[in-house]
Amino acid sequence: MVPVWAPLSEAGCAVRRGSAYIRATTRKDSCRLNLEARNDISPALRIIPREQHNISRKNISKAALRVLYRLNEAGYDAFLVGGAVRDLLLGGHPKDFDVATSATPDEVKKLFRNCRLIGRRFRLAHVVFGPEIIEVATFRGTGEDEGGGDRHIVDGLIVRDNIWGTIEEDAVRRDFRVNALYYDISDFSVRDYVGGMQDLQDRVLHLIGDPATRYREDPVRMLRAARLAAKLDFRIDDAASAAFAELGPLLADAAPARLFDESLKLFLSGHGLKSFRMLEQCGLLKFLFPTTARALQRGDEALRALVESGLSNTDARVMEGKSVTPAFLFAVLLWGEVRDLAHALIARGLDGNEAWARAAAQVVGEQCQRVAIPRRFTFTMEEIWSLQPRFEQIQRKRVFRLLTHPRFRAAFDFLLLRGAESPALRELGQWWAHAQQLPHDTLAAALSGHGGEGDGSMPTPGKPPRRRRRRKPAGQSDAS
Ligand code: ATP
Ligand code: MG
Repeated sequence: MVPVWAPLSEAGCAVRRGSAYIRATTRKDSCRLNLEARNDISPALRIIPREQHNISRKNISKAALRVLYRLNEAGYDAFLVGGAVRDLLLGGHPKDFDVATSATPDEVKKLFRNCRLIGRRFRLAHVVFGPEIIEVATFRGTGEDEGGGDRHIVDGLIVRDNIWGTIEEDAVRRDFRVNALYYDISDFSVRDYVGGMQDLQDRVLHLIGDPATRYREDPVRMLRAARLAAKLDFRIDDAASAAFAELGPLLADAAPARLFDESLKLFLSGHGLKSFRMLEQCGLLKFLFPTTARALQRGDEALRALVESGLSNTDARVMEGKSVTPAFLFAVLLWGEVRDLAHALIARGLDGNEAWARAAAQVVGEQCQRVAIPRRFTFTMEEIWSLQPRFEQIQRKRVFRLLTHPRFRAAFDFLLLRGAESPALRELGQWWAHAQQLPHDTLAAALSGHGGEGDGSMPTPGKPPRRRRRRKPAGQSDAS
């Protein structure tokens, strides 16, 4: 994954182009000046020796250790950094291990055969060990004092950032203080440049630097604040959360592909429900999923129950190590809008299949302008939605056709969530749950007499069905 952050301590630095990267070691003095000029950041480096912290190499991935040692043996500074250090200090198990180093990407590449350089805007090295990728980033500088480097800022937003710097500069350009802790492989100490250890203890997220500037540089930091607060059970510092209302709309300028990645981290990392509630509480949900936020604000409690149980089921699956598909979750999040639109189109006389297809296309189209959900997922979402009306058609042929549909399982799980909408849907869910348990012949017998078109009664699986005729309203197809 290409990291798209470009932490920078101050806005207002000149637009620089070109590729004359600045090496770290010459720039310590300028960095000290930067730090001292900023009264919200302690310039004092605190080094926590091995015996005073709980990070053990046993809990660091072998691949990350190999990268750290190799860099260090080659004479470069090498640190574990970011979420991995934060999570290890909190006693957790990091999901990825990022390395920060004084070596440039090209120098890293020379050291590792299994290395590829990625990203034009933010150049990085990926060292690949089977399925595990260790992301190695060169210390980023502020680029305020030297003439070279490659940083490009448009309206306060960083669009390219390849200026190398010192570890001190690198620290102040990260987002939150707790994310700017460095584990030093040379002596196993932890280096704290900005007060991250104190914040870990106080369980609070402070942005480094002026919140408005930092959010303007990269509005996705607002989402990261909500996500990390939910994941870690931390409070967001008042100054960092006060800016959400004013600057939240800047998320409209964030790249939709990046917002898709961020949405996966929010909702598919095992704390989706907490993230969702935190986004709502922070007033940020409306910038990511506007229609969902609107429906919930209108007080659609059934939709809330559906979304919340969809998220908590997903969390449970992630915790059990089971697979989860983004398609299902996005289908859940956007369901309210699709359903209402499809019903409105049907009420206007449109054929059921056509109405569902149009509603799905419209809702997906609008959502993708914000969050670029890849086609392979939107396709599945559309299938999950369009299969919903087919659960109401209890005719033999149709039942068997639906049971063998490749998307049956996901659509059925979705139907179960919709039990929140009405007792009738709950009953329907139970019927299909039971129907799946029955041997083919038993179910066929239960449904015999339910083969004809237009017979919508619900036989009890296992018992001979009651024959009942239902008159369809004119113009409404079975799929509505
Ligand atoms: P997670 O537990 O989700 O991996 P993380 O903090 O490690 O959380 P990553 O996206 O893996 O998040 O980023 C690694 C580190 O890179 C962060 O801890 C932070 O130091 C830095 N970082 C990431 N995104 C940004 C950003 N938008 N602005 C500034 N720094 C960032
Ligand atoms: Mg991480």
